[in-house]
Amino acid sequence: MRLGFIGLGHMGSGMASNLVKAGHEVTVYNRTPDKTAPLVALGATAARQLADACRGDAVITMLADDAAVEGVVFGDGGILTRLASGAIHISCSTISVELSRRLAQAHAHASQRYIAAPVFGRPDVAAAAKLFVVAGGAPDAVESARPVLDAIGQRTFVMSAQPEAANLIKLSGNFLIATVIESLGEAMALAGKAGIDLQAYLDLLTSTLFTAPVYRTYGALIAERRFEPPGFAAPLGHKDIRLTLAAAEELRVPMPLASLLRDRFLTLLAHGGENLDWSAIGGLAAQDAGAAPR
Ligand code: NAP
Repeated sequence: MRLGFIGLGHMGSGMASNLVKAGHEVTVYNRTPDKTAPLVALGATAARQLADACRGDAVITMLADDAAVEGVVFGDGGILTRLASGAIHISCSTISVELSRRLAQAHAHASQRYIAAPVFGRPDVAAAAKLFVVAGGAPDAVESARPVLDAIGQRTFVMSAQPEAANLIKLSGNFLIATVIESLGEAMALAGKAGIDLQAYLDLLTSTLFTAPVYRTYGALIAERRFEPPGFAAPLGHKDIRLTLAAAEELRVPMPLASLLRDRFLTLLAHGGENLDWSAIGGLAAQDAGAAPR
C-alpha cells in the first residue's frame, strides 16, 4: 500500500520500519525531522511537510497524546484537509475516548475513513513487529487496513465497529498494567526491606502464580530499579491514567485504584520523574519505606 506514517518516537520508528520491511511504500513525517533519517536509509521517503504524508491509501499516526493528534489532524494543512476521499486514518496513539469519537465524526464528514488501532507492547516489541493491536472501526475500513495491522503486530483483535471502544479498551489495559506496577512495587519494598533477595523473590513469583509477561517485565525493572532510559515515559503513563479517569467519569464508573494511581504519577513527576520510565511508580514504595534513595 501507499502509506504515510506520522510520529517517529519510541514506538513509531519501529512500526514504520516494519511497514517498509513488509514492502509498503512509506512516506514518513516527524515534527523533529532528524528522526526520519534511519527510515530513509531503510527505503522510506521523508515528507518535507505533513501534507506529503497524506497522499496515500492510508496515513498512520503514532503521536504522544491528544494535543499532538489534534494538531496533526485538525491543524492548518493537517490530515483532515489533505487525506483523499475514501482513504483511511489509522490512529495508533493512546488517546482519549472523546477525541477518538470526534476524529470518527470529522473523518466521516470529510468522506474519509477512520479506525482506532491502539497497541499493547513496549518499543522492543514494536521493533520486532510483535505488538497486539486493538482495532475499532467500520468493518470495511478495518479490512482495508489489515495489511498495515498485520505488518506491525503479531495479532489484531477487532473489538467494535465504534473506533472509540478500542481506545477505551487500551486505556483499561494500561490501567491494569499500572495496578500491577504499583502492587509489585509495594510487595517488593516489603520483601526488600526484610532483607529478602529480590531476584529470588521475583523468580518465585513469576514461576508460580504470577507467570504473566507483565509481572516478568515490570518485576525485573523494579528489582533492578532500571527506570532509565524510558521505554514508556512517566508523563505518558500519567496521561493514560488521566484519560482512563475521564472515560470513567463520563460513564459514571468510580475507579478508586485509578485515582490512587493518578496521585502516584503526580508524586513521581513532582520528584523529578519526567524522564523516567512509567515503571518508576513501582520504585516509590521502597522510597516511602526509606529503603531506596529519592
Ligand atoms: P514518544 O517517544 O514520546 O514519541 C512521541 C511522538 O509524538 C514523537 O514523534 C513526537 O515528535 C510526536 N509529538 C509529540 N508532540 C507533538 C506535537 N505537539 N506535534 C507533533 N508531533 C508531536 O512516545 P511513544 O512512546 O512512541 O508513544 C507514542 C504513543 O504510543 C503514545 O500515545 C503512547 O501512549 C502510546 N504507546 C506507547 C508505548 C510505549 O511503550 N512507549 C506502548 C503502547 C502505546 P518529536 O520527535 O518531534 O518529539
